[in-house]
Amino acid sequence: MFTLRLASGKEARVLAGHPWIYRNEIARVEDEGEPGAIAHVRDGRGRFLGQAMVNLRSQIAGRMLTHGEEPTNAAFFEDRIREAVARCGRTLRGPDACRLIFGEADHLPGLITDRYGDLLVVQILTAGMERVREAILSALREAIQPRAIYERNDVSPRKLEGLELRKGFAWGEGETGLWIQEGDLSFFVEVAEGQKTGFFLDQRENRQVVKGLAAGRDVLDCFCYSGGFTVSAAAGGATSVMGIDLSAEAIAWAERSAEQNGLSSRCTFSTANAFDALRAFDREDRRFGLVILDPPAFTKGKEALEGALRGYKEINLRAMKLLAPGGILVTCSCSYHVDPPMFLEMLRAAAADAHREFHLREFRTQAGDHPILLAARETQYLKCAILEALI
Ligand code: SAH
Repeated sequence: MFTLRLASGKEARVLAGHPWIYRNEIARVEDEGEPGAIAHVRDGRGRFLGQAMVNLRSQIAGRMLTHGEEPTNAAFFEDRIREAVARCGRTLRGPDACRLIFGEADHLPGLITDRYGDLLVVQILTAGMERVREAILSALREAIQPRAIYERNDVSPRKLEGLELRKGFAWGEGETGLWIQEGDLSFFVEVAEGQKTGFFLDQRENRQVVKGLAAGRDVLDCFCYSGGFTVSAAAGGATSVMGIDLSAEAIAWAERSAEQNGLSSRCTFSTANAFDALRAFDREDRRFGLVILDPPAFTKGKEALEGALRGYKEINLRAMKLLAPGGILVTCSCSYHVDPPMFLEMLRAAAADAHREFHLREFRTQAGDHPILLAARETQYLKCAILEALI
């Protein structure tokens, strides 16, 4: 039987509920299976720890599936999917746009599933999930009964697993551009061409906060993508909102959403580099009552951390200088390697250089349908600080 025997002492993290086994923690492999096959995991003394999906060519060689000995067949995955869909405010039929399965944190390592109305978008990130792809697709069809399932398997983590990159309909067909409903707002989502699976579902609750803060303010939304924050701020009663993004395609989607919600007259969009735009506004002495910064991850690894922190500090410093007295900065980072203490320290340094004093009104994270597994800090990646300028 395919079995991983961990080096002695390396079982502690697994016993504490962390789902990963690193390659260098394995002492011995018995009856090695194909990449992605499910193995029994035992500690150095032979004690059974559970079952994991295993890919020995990846640094993360094992991903725990269960601590039990039950069969990991199609019914097992169907149960896991139904359990995931029943927690974190999700149901089989709603909300209209949400994350239904968040990988490890939903006990389905390497699997992401998002709902956009009657379309599901699936991302399979590991060889283990690729092997059970058919069971997953059929369980999703059975449980959710979507119109179609689209696969966004065109993401780089797959390369580390030796998987090819591809995208397309896995089942069914139809348009890949569609409208979703979030509260009383409609957003245009392009699942084939958009970032992530099409929309930043992880910012949903933070969009609500921005909506609640925007009334009567001139708002600047940097890195606005398809206008999630821009449109929410306008709907919340902002006097004006300017959305800036480097991608002309994203700006076109943002304009469609502003229009659809009848908010175009208070929204302007610009296809530009946010770093340049922030510098130009500073030179022009422009002031805003609310600035939103939601840049892409400046680093995906530990190596580039210093450069990333410099980048975060630069945009935050510039944004802080642009705030009118009493102005609010909503500032985010989705780089997992920049942890919350580091992010706050960077903000302190930026505030000191900007000669501004702030209250930290809230320190937020990703939406509840992207659950954080307490035992696995890697599952908490989004930081969103809400700062209010005192003068
Ligand atoms: N705030 C968005 C998500 C932002 S994702 C939302 O809630 O939906 C990051 C965005 O930054 C992407 O749309 C990307 O096109 C854009 N981007 C990356 N580098 C940029 C730059 N230098 N200037 C402006 N936009 C940039």
